[in-house]
Amino acid sequence: MADGDDLVFLPLGGVGEIGMNLALYGYGPRRTRRWLVVDMGVSFSTENLPGIDGVVPDIQFLAERRDRVDGIVITHAHEDHFGALFDLWPRVKAPVYMTPFAAGLLKAKQAEEPGAPKIPVEVIDQGKRFTVGSFDLEFVPVAHSLPEPNMVAIRTPYGIVIHTGDWKLDPAPGVGRPTDENRLAELGREGVRALICDSTNAVRDGVSPSEGEVAHSLERLILEAPHRVVVTSFSSNIARMRAVAEAAKRAGRDVVVVGRAIRRAADVARELGYLDGLPDFLDQEAYGYLPRNKVLALMTGSQGEPRAALARIANKDHRAVSIAQGDRVIFSSRTIPGNERAVNAIVNALIDLGAEVITDRLALVHTSGHPRRDELRQLYDWTKPAIVIPVHGESLHLHEQAKLARSLGIPKVVEVRNGDMTRLGPGDPELVEKVPSGQLYRDGRLIVRSDSGGVGDRRRLAFSGAVSVAIVLSEAGVVLEDPTAVLLGLPDKDAEGAPMLETVLDAVDEALDSLPQPRRRDPGLVREAVQRAVRGTVNATWGKKPAMIVHVTHVAD
Ligand SMILES: [Zn+2]
Ligand SMILES: [Zn+2]
Repeated sequence: MADGDDLVFLPLGGVGEIGMNLALYGYGPRRTRRWLVVDMGVSFSTENLPGIDGVVPDIQFLAERRDRVDGIVITHAHEDHFGALFDLWPRVKAPVYMTPFAAGLLKAKQAEEPGAPKIPVEVIDQGKRFTVGSFDLEFVPVAHSLPEPNMVAIRTPYGIVIHTGDWKLDPAPGVGRPTDENRLAELGREGVRALICDSTNAVRDGVSPSEGEVAHSLERLILEAPHRVVVTSFSSNIARMRAVAEAAKRAGRDVVVVGRAIRRAADVARELGYLDGLPDFLDQEAYGYLPRNKVLALMTGSQGEPRAALARIANKDHRAVSIAQGDRVIFSSRTIPGNERAVNAIVNALIDLGAEVITDRLALVHTSGHPRRDELRQLYDWTKPAIVIPVHGESLHLHEQAKLARSLGIPKVVEVRNGDMTRLGPGDPELVEKVPSGQLYRDGRLIVRSDSGGVGDRRRLAFSGAVSVAIVLSEAGVVLEDPTAVLLGLPDKDAEGAPMLETVLDAVDEALDSLPQPRRRDPGLVREAVQRAVRGTVNATWGKKPAMIVHVTHVAD
């Protein structure tokens, strides 16, 4: 890197929203600037996006400059940081850098997903300094809620930029290393230009509880359980997996893993030594034949995912696992906002089956992997950044961290959103450009623009259904056959009990009768008249206007 060139930060996802993190760092003159990508994450879909499996950042800006992208660095293996690689990497095709655990998970996912792109991964150990094109980087180990999370330190002529990724302070993280305080303090002494920092828990005072405390509380709950124990948690939280497995061992229980995601994570963790000293996990078939007080089942589904094992167990729809009176189900998780209804439905169904359900409202069975305010304070103190830019959060979280940083005397605190290109040097930080940003949807096997129509239509159809009408006329405009109609998603009958189909067909007939014959020669006029009549009539009885498809065929006389 030469002196005098601009250093810019540009987030394309994850700022002003939770999920789909993707940040760019650029260095050099505008036209020949080199780019580094940090993380390529996905967001969960929500109920108002019917048929959409995931949401990823719109990377048009990046794709247009892909010949100037030096590489993609992944901070850690959570889906909101690396879950969009299969979707987006083919549009960039730059080399990808991540730790052994992340690389192992990616490879396992690749093996299970036919058609997944072959992504060239360079494996980098935690704590290592490495170069990516013109960028001089270092992985600084931190604690979070899965193995091997890192901050990325970027050395530039203006000082070090620290992209924190997700982190917390935890003296007993369960597996892996605690946050490397000494290294952070050393970087602080070397001179930190900017801290691009996790805001998730910036609204919460104090420090987040340690994984060690959670492990303790889980052990008590597992030792005391009289019958079967089911624990649901995030599949990649290997410290939690380890804590549960250790407690099971102490309680004389075998661990059964249920579901592909958790099996995959356990296999990768086992290969890297994170489950050393623990007996092998059994497959779900063992659940049925082990004595009730000798089994513990570990599974995902804590977010109410309808296809996950836990939802199917709650609905008595699982091949190998069932719940009976007195079994204990522990949600070692927090419900992500937006999933509350789905999770509550499962909790209620489990209680109806006789289970005793323990969530984080009843016991310390979960802790966040993100820094609370005292942890943020501590990081500022070690690194002494000239600039703080809050990321990884909704507006509220970003703003709370900004206020905290200002109150602690950080010289420059910059609040940005996706698409804001901020110059970090030379000179004071400044918004230099707004670039296109937005969302793309994972729609079946396709990645589509969020404004491409399909989803809006699906939402309208879900609300008010559709009516399809077929009309056959002579070229002179004489009705040759009785019109037909198909109703999709409409009530069968109106309040008086009259069939809705009859109401629709009557409206079609009336519309055709009201058009003088010469005007019926024009398909556009016929379509419009029928559409207006049907929507009006249905609205009068039902109070909703369905979508309409009218086929008009003119047959030669
Ligand atoms: Zn994370
Ligand atoms: Zn995250």
